[in-house]
Amino acid sequence: MTEPTMGSLRELQKIEAELKELEAERVAFDPLLAEVEEPALALESQVSSSRDRLEQMRTDSRRLERGAQDKQARIKRLEERLNQVTNVREEAAVQTELDLVRRAARTEEQEVYQLMEQVRRAETALEELDAEAEAARAEVEPRQAELLEKRGQIDERIAEIRVRRDAIVEGLGDMERRVYESFRDSGRPTFVAHLTADGACSSCWGVIPLQKQAEIRSGGGLMRCEACGVILSPEPEPAGEPEPDA
Ligand SMILES: [Zn+2]
Repeated sequence: MTEPTMGSLRELQKIEAELKELEAERVAFDPLLAEVEEPALALESQVSSSRDRLEQMRTDSRRLERGAQDKQARIKRLEERLNQVTNVREEAAVQTELDLVRRAARTEEQEVYQLMEQVRRAETALEELDAEAEAARAEVEPRQAELLEKRGQIDERIAEIRVRRDAIVEGLGDMERRVYESFRDSGRPTFVAHLTADGACSSCWGVIPLQKQAEIRSGGGLMRCEACGVILSPEPEPAGEPEPDA
């Protein structure tokens, strides 16, 4: 019973290491995706603020136009009154007011004209910026899709490995499962190590008491290193433990 259990725990140890690596690979896509999208986002934000400014200019322009129309109506009324004056003093007063309103109307019309000119220029600039933003967005999409596809492949591998892991965990005895779960939850990468020929734990290199060494070598169940808590196996790892392969 000892060897299959030890084998399963070792397999789990490998799987957990592999999962950790894949999860790190997956997280590394976040900054890449952000970086790829950055130029398009910057242009889109410029488009949005230009559009707001243009909208404000249009509102101002409409307000000025209404003001100019009001002045034209006032001029018309004053002109009518000028035709109905009965004496020179009244005529002079109406004429003075008419001159003032006409002058103000000319200034305002000039402002309306300038503002409309600005609106036209802003509209052209916005069209160009909009086209630029669209081009940038179109350029981003294939690269983004490529990155998302690669990340999706990693997700699939993670899912597959988890299924494999869960199947192995399912086959563990209660004690092995508790050992596995406590190591996994603590995030420690090594939970199975072997007893070296000279009686040390291959994870922390602490020396194991002779009595315990004998029990481990005779396959007396799951024995833990008192110093670091790993499960000690009498056999050196077949492959892929802390050795720098795999
Ligand atoms: Zn140890």
